[in-house]
Amino acid sequence: MAFEKYLGDCGLQVATDRDFGITALRWAAMQSGIGIIRKNNFFYTEKGSYQYLEAFLIDVPLKHIVENSIRPCAEKCNLCMRACPTHSLEAPYMMCRNTCVSCLTTWDGWDLRKEPLQNKFGKWIYGCDACQDACPHNKNAWQEKEVFPALEKCSKQLTYSKIVLADYEWIKTVLRPKLWYIPEGKEWRYKINALNAMLNNYVEEYLSIIREACDDEYVEVRDMAKWVLEELQKRNIN
Ligand code: SF4
Ligand code: SF4
Repeated sequence: MAFEKYLGDCGLQVATDRDFGITALRWAAMQSGIGIIRKNNFFYTEKGSYQYLEAFLIDVPLKHIVENSIRPCAEKCNLCMRACPTHSLEAPYMMCRNTCVSCLTTWDGWDLRKEPLQNKFGKWIYGCDACQDACPHNKNAWQEKEVFPALEKCSKQLTYSKIVLADYEWIKTVLRPKLWYIPEGKEWRYKINALNAMLNNYVEEYLSIIREACDDEYVEVRDMAKWVLEELQKRNIN
């Protein structure tokens, strides 16, 4: 916002889209010379891929002056592809959106009872960073130097059990503004993702929580909880 104001103060007309970007952000960032796109499709600066990109459209042409000397991926490296739990990243620069855990826990996968890949989600309940975490160019990228605003309001609540039993008002006002890929009005989605993670990573203490979720106010959560119990029964756990 400060930068947008600065551009305006310079006499420029400015347009931006803070949520999804006013243009293809990774492509624009690469064209601007500040980084490269690697085989896992993520945009990297010399500090790795955990970057936040924003684009500003202005009404004057700019001269391209930035060059980078970032090394491309090693020809033989395929660590990101090997780390992908669903083989969504099937080849360099080729990711199948329909099978990516990141999509299946946010934009897609609305009924995980019928999602054939639900048992590949591992511990993820929102997004997936496996192909970035595996990349050597992200080694030591997480420095924990910056403060994430209002993290303390939700950090202690981010367990599977607490999400499954969470108050919907808390999800709407605290959780969703941080993890906003799940659309407004679909707040039950966080709960079915957490129920799925409980099934994938089952321990006994989850059982009472899953049973309690069978009485959730949303039918999607009730159905998912009942299905999880059935799946546990098939494994002679429940
Ligand atoms: S985000 Fe996860 S599921 Fe998607 S391509 Fe990367 S590793 Fe695969
Ligand atoms: S893991 Fe290897 S191939 Fe994949 S993006 Fe990183 S360097 Fe490139």
